[in-house]
Amino acid sequence: MSRPIETIGVIGSGTMGNGIAQVCATAGFHVLMKDIQDEFLDRGLKTIDKSLSKFVEKGKLAADRKNSIMKNIGTTSTSQPLAGCDFVIEAASENFEIKKQIFQELDSLCRPDVIFGSNTSSISITRLAAQTRRPDKCIGMHFMNPVPLMTLVEIIRGLATSDETYAATKSLAEKLGKVPCEVNDSPGFVSNRVLMPMINEAIYCVMEGVGKPESIDTVMKLGMNHPMGPLTLADLIGLDVCLDIMEVLYQGFADSKYRPCPLLRKMVAAGCLGRKSGRGFYEYQ
Ligand code: NAD
Repeated sequence: MSRPIETIGVIGSGTMGNGIAQVCATAGFHVLMKDIQDEFLDRGLKTIDKSLSKFVEKGKLAADRKNSIMKNIGTTSTSQPLAGCDFVIEAASENFEIKKQIFQELDSLCRPDVIFGSNTSSISITRLAAQTRRPDKCIGMHFMNPVPLMTLVEIIRGLATSDETYAATKSLAEKLGKVPCEVNDSPGFVSNRVLMPMINEAIYCVMEGVGKPESIDTVMKLGMNHPMGPLTLADLIGLDVCLDIMEVLYQGFADSKYRPCPLLRKMVAAGCLGRKSGRGFYEYQ
């Protein structure tokens, strides 16, 4: 019998980890955020503070609530304190070896009833679960960026994920104010399986001279009612991240329809990674 969830462990305090910690603490859970260096944890806490301040400025959050939310978040650069968590959400760097080590360590530290959710965008949940002695209690919990603003959580069932684990994870996502959506483990899950080939195709259109980036983005924005064009979105996500995900699809399905566009490869090789490098399909100051 699993205990009620009071304390949630969040592994990683980067872009996604601090966002997840923020929504968990806002929903009234105690949060223990873990990273490998205090400096990263401090940066994560600052980001949360800034994000909550914006909600206060917009009148969406009372100022005294902000303080109580911040008090709900503890930090640690060691793993031992995670032993007391009732649910753990892993949002560490997108690298199988790093995640494997984290899952194995959590498995030896946490109570056997504790569920491990991974926020991975592309690594197989089934493969991560197989690193533990509780594959039935491992599941994908794919939040969208920025976590405090985006409502979707793609919940990914691995081969061994139990119905109880799925139900508990779905219920937690709802308590966080999110809309859970159930999918099965497969390369790219649903979100990136559909999104990335569209972005890749838009890049083929640039490469083949079918249209300029501005024209392609305008067609998709005004014609398909997308909030931003695929090339603007690719620059925002990072072209290196887009390439990594296309590689996961290409290798995972061994199907040429997922072949990364040569122009995408070329741009990544040239260091044109989008917003973060100042140049992608557009230029940034
Ligand atoms: P990030 O690089 O901003 O943060 C990752 C953090 O993990 C870093 O602070 C790093 O120090 C920490 N970390 C590394 N090893 C660790 C360990 N052993 N223990 C604890 N912390 C450790 O990355 P991110 O963008 O926040 O991505 C995190 C995860 O979320 C990845 O799996 C990524 O694929 C996924 N994701 C990212 C996005 C996005 O838009 N950035 C969207 C959805 C999912």
